[in-house]
Amino acid sequence: MSINDTELSSTSVFQSDVWLFSIYTIATFEFVFWLCNSFLICIELFDFPSIDKYRIQKRKKKLRFQPHITQLIIKQTIRHQISIILLTPLLYYIINYFGHLDIRGPRPSWLTIIYQLVLFILSEDAIFFWTHYLLHTPWLYKNVHKKHHIFKQPTGVVSVLSDPIEGLQNQLAIWFMPVLLKEKHMFTLCIWIAIRVYQTVNAHSGYNLPYVSTQYWLPWIMSGALAHDFHHEHGKWNYGSFFNIWDRLMGTHRLSTTTKRTN
Ligand SMILES: [Zn+2]
Ligand SMILES: [Zn+2]
Repeated sequence: MSINDTELSSTSVFQSDVWLFSIYTIATFEFVFWLCNSFLICIELFDFPSIDKYRIQKRKKKLRFQPHITQLIIKQTIRHQISIILLTPLLYYIINYFGHLDIRGPRPSWLTIIYQLVLFILSEDAIFFWTHYLLHTPWLYKNVHKKHHIFKQPTGVVSVLSDPIEGLQNQLAIWFMPVLLKEKHMFTLCIWIAIRVYQTVNAHSGYNLPYVSTQYWLPWIMSGALAHDFHHEHGKWNYGSFFNIWDRLMGTHRLSTTTKRTN
């Protein structure tokens, strides 16, 4: 291979769709993930009484006073960051399996984007609820899901820390509908990644902050930090992700140990 050929092939790798897909996907994930988590790390490290009053498990020490947990979080976060870089290119081929992903073309109309995002959210919510419900059966809990439930006092970064099999369960819920759709655009997928990352980091934040979540505005239908924190603390109830509808139907919606149902 001549020098020109080598230059040409390396240029085409960096201009290939799989490369662009990986860059857009990883960049969107990392930007939203670390933007939200920088704020959470900051309020973990420094005490702001005006924010600390929203901490859900106030009777317990903050995580910075629990070195064995913080060390575990750091170790697993580094492992997760490496796995994202290695596995994202694979996702490109899975997404293109049933349809076509447009990366370079003009963005679709806002109507198409909103319609597809609604489909993604509804499908993710249903698949996540039922697979999460299954992960709480004794064998799967002991052998798979327990690794995520080590964190009884969750914080944003633990949203992605779990057994690799649970990682697959999460990815299945997120990508099932985007994979099935015939036509999809990278722009829509980036918004979807941003929404899903924000939702899960907020659910694991450990703070029931006002204004910043859909649960604050629509508590009768949306799940959120209060519900998922309660799930981590007790190891049961509140299996949903975006909505609490499935939990209400299955009688697993609970925000307190004394009352069966609160908004
Ligand atoms: Zn669980
Ligand atoms: Zn969780």
